Amino acid sequence: MTGAGVLDTAALLEWPLDALVGGFCAHSQMSEIETHDPVRAQLFESQGPCFESVSADALAQAKDAASATGDISGLSNVDLDVLALALDKQLPLVTDDYRLQNICSYIDHPWRGVIQDGVTEVRKHHLECRGCKRVFPGAISSNKDNHGTCPDCGSKMRLRRQ
Ligand SMILES: [Zn+2]
Repeated sequence: MTGAGVLDTAALLEWPLDALVGGFCAHSQMSEIETHDPVRAQLFESQGPCFESVSADALAQAKDAASATGDISGLSNVDLDVLALALDKQLPLVTDDYRLQNICSYIDHPWRGVIQDGVTEVRKHHLECRGCKRVFPGAISSNKDNHGTCPDCGSKMRLRRQ
């Protein structure tokens, strides 16, 4: 496994250091690393991936794509930075985040998983309450058989394709 790509924070935390050399990350990820693993954050200063700034254009592109698939509400600003950097550098995005994988597939941008196998088809979907029919765009549960209950009325939720 090699780091030639834009690495999400899971990759930064889980991969061996030498696999990260040659990879790219957004500046905003550094504070996440410092929170989770301060020792690793320090090592990144001497060896590790390149930390780069994200251009406003690429960020706008990332947000557009995330809105188009309905995934944007589940993404953090750091997630959007990581996606934008991958678009900016035209490098594969290395992520296990289902939403980021989905967006990449949608805009035909290469990605690969940190650990898991990812989605094989683009899915545009949302959760919908069976009771009050409230729709939760971009709220994708990881358990395909149990989507939880509606915060408003307590009915079960179901997954609907858009
Ligand atoms: Zn409801």
